[in-house]
Amino acid sequence: MTDTKDPFGPKPADHPSVGNPCPACHKPFEAGDYTTLIALGPGSDPDAQQRAREGRPYTAVAVEVHFTCATGERVVRLRLPEDDA
Ligand SMILES: [Zn+2]
Repeated sequence: MTDTKDPFGPKPADHPSVGNPCPACHKPFEAGDYTTLIALGPGSDPDAQQRAREGRPYTAVAVEVHFTCATGERVVRLRLPEDDA
């Protein structure tokens, strides 16, 4: 994980997290939303916990939130020609 948050999206209608509540604002994710992942830490994995204690890279447990909820920034998506198709 890095500290740089890149937006994921727009979320397709069949994405598994559509309808799940955003942990930050509690509004359900919708198709077209931009989201990002917030790393929480090593979680319950003993190997990841040890790597974290030693300052080594590890695979973090992360939660998905709206990009705007994580950064305060809005994602502006340029209108593409295929949008009108
Ligand atoms: Zn949110």
